[in-house]
Amino acid sequence: MSWNLFKKVVDELDSGFENLSLSFYIGGESLLHPRFIDMIKYARGKSCFCEIGFNTNGMLLTKEYMQDIIENIDWIKCSLEGLGEVNDSIRVGCDYLKVAQNLKDLVSLRGSKDKPRISINVTEYTQSKEDVSKFVEYWTKHVDAVYVSVFVDEKMRASEKFFDNEPVIRQEFCIFPFTYMGILWNGDVVACCGDLNGVNVTGSILNEPLKDIWRNKRFKTLRYQSLTGKYLAQSLCSQCNMWKTGFKPSSRIIDGVNIKFSGQRKEYRRLQLTTCYC
Ligand code: SF4
Repeated sequence: MSWNLFKKVVDELDSGFENLSLSFYIGGESLLHPRFIDMIKYARGKSCFCEIGFNTNGMLLTKEYMQDIIENIDWIKCSLEGLGEVNDSIRVGCDYLKVAQNLKDLVSLRGSKDKPRISINVTEYTQSKEDVSKFVEYWTKHVDAVYVSVFVDEKMRASEKFFDNEPVIRQEFCIFPFTYMGILWNGDVVACCGDLNGVNVTGSILNEPLKDIWRNKRFKTLRYQSLTGKYLAQSLCSQCNMWKTGFKPSSRIIDGVNIKFSGQRKEYRRLQLTTCYC
């Protein structure tokens, strides 16, 4: 996304919305953007955002950026797929040792501050349960939280085995069109964080203000479809079952680790590192 388009997005959000959570992520790697630090500083100066964060692969999370990240970011989530070579064999091009060191440096530089909250996401993909357990055991000692997410394919299908899990209350409809607006690099607006290629575009900020797009006919149609389950046959939503993995959270504590089952993932937090996360 160009700098000018980014500023337009942020300015429009600031003039038309409040209490927003801004995530610098809809696929891709934010730290590759040459003006990423300018972007987080610009966004931090706006009152409409109560929270700002981003997902990263951690490769460019170097000391050069850390101070600015600590001062301007509320949360950061790093994606890994396992310990050592398990990770590097799945995430081709990633260097586990380098990412692990970057994360530890960031935690150390943050010190006793409660932000940014630093977490890692691992996907239950090809790893064995044992590998995932070892991963959780190790990383809950070093970061604030570890998330173990179910694998979702490009058609937004979550693995069926997930649905045999915990006895928790499931969502009755997809909440994305009611709570989420994703702005792609070219200004197209989508209603789902999984719509990386703009299949369900609801408008473009180049043609229509964001506050009008949020209330336009396309967005309203997606909300109606979500509530009724009457999706168009070929749409992304018609094939999706990911939203069904959104559950009312339940939690329990095992061996000093608070395990929270909340949707498509399990969240692990070692209690002595936890302050308060709402
Ligand atoms: S139904 Fe699935 S694809 Fe559609 S908005 Fe919800 S999560 Fe996204």
